Amino acid sequence: MYDFDLLVIGSGPGGQKAAIAAAKLGRKTAVIEKPHMLGGVCINTGTIPSKTLREAVLYLTGLNQRELYGQSYRVKDEITVADLGLRTRHVVGREIQVIRSQLTRNRVTLLQGTGRFLDEHTVGILDGGEEERKVTAAKIVIATGTTPARPGSVEFDERTVIDSDAILHLDRVPDTMVVVGAGVIGIEYASMFAALGTRVTVVERRERMLEFCDLEIVEALKYHLRDLAVTFRFGESVAAVERRAGGALTVLESGKRIPADCVMYSAGRQGRTAELHLEAAGLTADARGRIAVDEDYRTGVPHIYAVGDVIGFPALAATSMEQGRVAAQHACGEPVASLHELQPIGIYTVPEISFVGRTEDDLTRGRVPFEVGVSRYRELARGQIIGDSYGMLKLLVSPQDRRLLGVHVFGTGATELVHIGQTVMGCGGTIDYLVNAVFNYPTLAESYKVAALDAMNKMRAISRLTGEA
Ligand SMILES: Cc1cc2nc3c(=O)[nH]c(=O)nc-3n(C[C@H](O)[C@H](O)[C@H](O)COP(=O)(O)OP(=O)(O)OC[C@H]3O[C@@H](n4cnc5c(N)ncnc54)[C@H](O)[C@@H]3O)c2cc1C
Repeated sequence: MYDFDLLVIGSGPGGQKAAIAAAKLGRKTAVIEKPHMLGGVCINTGTIPSKTLREAVLYLTGLNQRELYGQSYRVKDEITVADLGLRTRHVVGREIQVIRSQLTRNRVTLLQGTGRFLDEHTVGILDGGEEERKVTAAKIVIATGTTPARPGSVEFDERTVIDSDAILHLDRVPDTMVVVGAGVIGIEYASMFAALGTRVTVVERRERMLEFCDLEIVEALKYHLRDLAVTFRFGESVAAVERRAGGALTVLESGKRIPADCVMYSAGRQGRTAELHLEAAGLTADARGRIAVDEDYRTGVPHIYAVGDVIGFPALAATSMEQGRVAAQHACGEPVASLHELQPIGIYTVPEISFVGRTEDDLTRGRVPFEVGVSRYRELARGQIIGDSYGMLKLLVSPQDRRLLGVHVFGTGATELVHIGQTVMGCGGTIDYLVNAVFNYPTLAESYKVAALDAMNKMRAISRLTGEA
């Protein structure tokens, strides 16, 4: 009766995984995507280009080798945007091929164009021409993601005053840059450009950044970024950005004026729902373009689901994929477990940060007692070998049952290492496992054992005084 069993709008991580999950369950599935956007924001303008750019920056600047070979060590003296773009284009191109091939192998039909609802089972697709193609589906998944939010008072010109999409297309590495907004995207790019030698000023309305992270680790990051000539202006708001010949002047409400070659706004993101004609399907979005869903990712219209950034927090590729898979399984009537509440956060600053579970502040606010076990990379043989003397791993442990309450990592490999802690936590393990396990040597993973022993020794000191077991 319908053209498709499941129709997905948007081919980012949420849409892709929804389509493939439904196809694996034998459903006739299609994905609608705009031209040149296969893979979504994730592959084309967000996660993958930014993380590849970071690798290119680290490699070409030789930043991570300077502890061993001296502060003047560089792989290339004059790093150009062409050098940086080479790696990004290569990886993005390959990733698009992988996604195209996965969709084809699973017999998912790719429909090119912009989709909009005509009624609650029909979507019209416009692909540049006059004619609107109509397709019908029993179930529909909205996975249209977000676009960078642009304050109306600021004139963007894609060169001097830009957002995180345009930063990938700069024609040269700026000498000076203002980043407005110290959220994850803003601070990741601020750290990459600082590593390239750009003098960066970060302006943030709040008094601190990355509030959801461990305070000690954010302080360590700030210290490192200041060392790379980043200036922080916390508790400051932008009054105006004035474009001038050869740059822009950022005027703060406090009266300060900051000259820079380029100003990057990272002021949050807006759900991409304006083109969807949601009302034709009986749906609405909130002021930030987000669609409300229930725990199974169903919207107010039960056969229409929404996943990924368009539903809001946590708005990560990692979670969007899982939401897509879970929504498709639910739509296909398959038994499905809900998303595990233990989700890691990775922040690809230079150096990187990752954590899972609770923070010290959060536990203290909740009056949950905890002990801290710390391991510093400089005390690990692997830390010395790779020239990382600043990295650290911190375990937050319950003194009652020795279970892990949180894992916080700063430094090389943080976003990979965190998964060891996540697995122990997810399986309900205690630090006894980490104390007694044998780890490869020399590795950074060994930091788990060192931190677990540290926590164990601190808890032992308390029991010695109190006589408790
Ligand atoms: C700079 C940056 C860095 C990031 N880094 C990370 C990171 O390190 N780790 C991480 O986990 N996440 C990261 N993210 C977030 C991550 O990219 C998103 O969470 C993820 O892409 C969201 O996936 P999604 O499924 O919602 O779809 P998206 O990737 O947002 O894609 C949505 C797709 O829908 C298409 N679309 C929209 N409307 C229509 C329509 N009407 N018709 C047809 N197609 C339509 C769009 O063209 C787009 O291709 C980053 C984001 C940015 C911007």
